[in-house]
Amino acid sequence: MKMKEEQFRLIKQQLKKLTSQDCFYKRKLEGIDVDSIQSQEDFEKLPFTWKGDLREAYPLGLMAVPEEEIVRIHSSSGTTGTPVIIPYTRQDVEDWAEMFARCYKTAGITDLDRIHITPGYGLWTAGIGFQNGAEKLGAMVIPMGPGNTDKQLRMMVDMKSTVLCATSSYALLLAEEIAKRGIGDQICLKKGVIGSERWGEKMRKRIADELGVKLYDIYGLTEVYGPGIGISCDYECGMHMWDDFVYFEIVDPKTGEILPDGEVGELVITTLKKQGAPLIRYRTHDLTRIITGDCPCGDPHPRIDTILGRTDDMVKVKGVNIFPSQIEEMLSGVDGASSEYQFMIDHMYGKDICTLFVEINADANAYNMEAAIQSAFKSKIGITVNVKPVAIGDLPRSEKKSTRVFDNRY
Ligand code: ZN
Repeated sequence: MKMKEEQFRLIKQQLKKLTSQDCFYKRKLEGIDVDSIQSQEDFEKLPFTWKGDLREAYPLGLMAVPEEEIVRIHSSSGTTGTPVIIPYTRQDVEDWAEMFARCYKTAGITDLDRIHITPGYGLWTAGIGFQNGAEKLGAMVIPMGPGNTDKQLRMMVDMKSTVLCATSSYALLLAEEIAKRGIGDQICLKKGVIGSERWGEKMRKRIADELGVKLYDIYGLTEVYGPGIGISCDYECGMHMWDDFVYFEIVDPKTGEILPDGEVGELVITTLKKQGAPLIRYRTHDLTRIITGDCPCGDPHPRIDTILGRTDDMVKVKGVNIFPSQIEEMLSGVDGASSEYQFMIDHMYGKDICTLFVEINADANAYNMEAAIQSAFKSKIGITVNVKPVAIGDLPRSEKKSTRVFDNRY
């Protein structure tokens, strides 16, 4: 995708500022002459910023303005130890609210809506992001936070909430509770704004049907403001990204090379206006692709696909990048195949051998299934694999996210 002139100007301005004062990026970009960056190609040679870099800057090493300008911090979850702390200036908080309000508008939400917010409040960027955007829009916020289903449903009924903000799993839980209690006719929800985690089409349909709402995927990450830097529109064909605030690239997660528009790779984000903790070429680890062409909704903001997975889940075989959601999608199109599978990659006799174990329905013919799945894999994903149909229940189940791809090559 071509960088816009205004984006280049903002990036250049930011790079100049960051390298002229003692801060994280002055050290990170040491030895790079910012004046020599004259084009998008020059920019693309700049080093990436990794989550590990941000972790090393703990606690406040990312701060790029004098402390008196910082009004708040947020932190991304430190599942692997040290958390990442992101400082925000008043302008950053304002910009984030502005983007978030734009997300609500894109979803057709107005100041007459009553927005029921279930994501958590606190160090995390979720709840407060949904709230600031809603207040900016002028809607009525019902700041629930997570948990306490009884209270959630009571408020939803009594307050006549029209918009539900939630993770997909919590939205599903609420939908099921509403169905179980038979209170669907007392629920006034019209729309759901769902934090972008990867969720299948089946789950989406269940939530939408049970709640009777239209769903929107909202995108964002704590390191880059938080949720609200992009959202899907009525046409459900990707998420519009607010490219006046962020510049994004899609790169090959293994090599870091920029990929042609439309190819799946890792989303890399550069902030254009952030003051407290600007980021240059930040590797998000989210897998997606640029959606080319104009959106039927008429919004000119560029689009990326809904998040297809994490780079850690991706493997490269015979020059083709393969990730779990692709395999799931392929299997969902094959009659008789279940969604349970295991994908093994081994290196034997000097080449990569792939084997896909798939649970198939009891009434399906294993021989036919093998051929059908092999052909679907070849046409949808692009390589030939060995297919081993197994009975339902043969593959291991796990309460947590189960591992489905095993790379035994190294
Ligand atoms: Zn659109």
